Amino acid sequence: MNAEIVTIGTELLLGEIVDTNSAYITRQLRDIGVNVYYLTTVGDNKERIAAAIRTALSRSDVVITTGGLGPTVDDMTREGVALATNRPLEFRPDLFEQIRERFEQLGAPMSENNRVQAYIPAGAIPLTNRLGTAPCFIVETEQGTVISLPGVPREMKDMLAQSVIPYLRERTGGKGIIKARVLRTAGIGESMIDAQIADLETWSNPTVGLAAHTGQTDIRITARADTEAEADALIAQAEAIIRERLGRYIFGTDRDQLEDVFLALLRERGLTLAVSYTGPADDSFARRFPASDIVCARLFTPTLSELLTRLGLDPDSPPETLDFGQLARLEARHVLQSTGAQVTIAYVTADVGTGIAAVMGEGERVRRYKFGGALVEAPAWASTWAIGMAWQLVREQQA
Ligand code: ATP
Repeated sequence: MNAEIVTIGTELLLGEIVDTNSAYITRQLRDIGVNVYYLTTVGDNKERIAAAIRTALSRSDVVITTGGLGPTVDDMTREGVALATNRPLEFRPDLFEQIRERFEQLGAPMSENNRVQAYIPAGAIPLTNRLGTAPCFIVETEQGTVISLPGVPREMKDMLAQSVIPYLRERTGGKGIIKARVLRTAGIGESMIDAQIADLETWSNPTVGLAAHTGQTDIRITARADTEAEADALIAQAEAIIRERLGRYIFGTDRDQLEDVFLALLRERGLTLAVSYTGPADDSFARRFPASDIVCARLFTPTLSELLTRLGLDPDSPPETLDFGQLARLEARHVLQSTGAQVTIAYVTADVGTGIAAVMGEGERVRRYKFGGALVEAPAWASTWAIGMAWQLVREQQA
């Protein structure tokens, strides 16, 4: 099943609020194996809302809208959906009663314009909004289904969980169980993974999808089945193929964190680690390695010239002439000698480049980068890669 989301509100188009609803809904749909191929945002204009919904219906099974269900004149979603689905708006006394009760509960006076909220497209299935006054609804048509939810994130989330997800699960063939398993990788980029498992990404059950985070990519397998055992079997089938092709990059599953897995591996093998960071003051790298019986040293060198001096190189070398990968490698070797740790990671960064190196005994892994404009993300990205490299090195060396 394919769905798409239409977020409604001129505020969104003016940049006054950021659309977080789409991301949330998309994640929830992904978890039940519903694909989302398009997201649209449209202002508070009846014709444009109708046009956006019609377009969405022409290419997707389900269209979920958020926003524009309030009582004011610029809340146009009811009318937009009615127009798009060729149905008149119909007054629903039961909904009017619900709205009235809600106001009574809140101890607030109901204004006459709240009455408009009780008008929904003819034949629509109303959904109960436990947290707000705006009634929501589902319109089932021959072209597909439109589901209209409130814009307020708290209300939208509640309705999604209470009504929409159960409704969609039922629609997706009545298969009751949806299970997901995430295989977490390190030391390999999203495009490389994609190239290896592109055939699996076209499967419909289980579905296989990728999600890239800074320096790390997750492979998500989602299966739909009548029983848990069947879902597990579907997942196992995909997982076996993925592991066969990419097993050496998979460090864990579901909620496993790379640094935890890495430190646990060091502990299991009785190894100690020293880390070295050279660059502008920033403890985000060191923070990933809290001092412990395993992490025996965490070195910080604020300037390149200090590092160069320590490594016996010319401290006045212009940074643009330096090979940062080589510098990181030399530093990792130096730290291996000076601290007595069995594994070291060195991370050297400056405006003109970044190098990371992981060293263990004779083995080593080195990378260098030039992070164009992406400097804000760079430390998290590079340190994840560095840990990934070290994890692979340790695993392969003593395998
Ligand atoms: P209500 O009847 O409760 O006002 P509504 O359906 O009319 O709900 P809107 O008036 O469109 O919703 O939006 C209400 C508020 O919800 C907005 O001011 C904004 O803070 C938030 N909101 C709306 N759409 C989004 C969105 N796509 N992402 C995040 N927040 C949103």
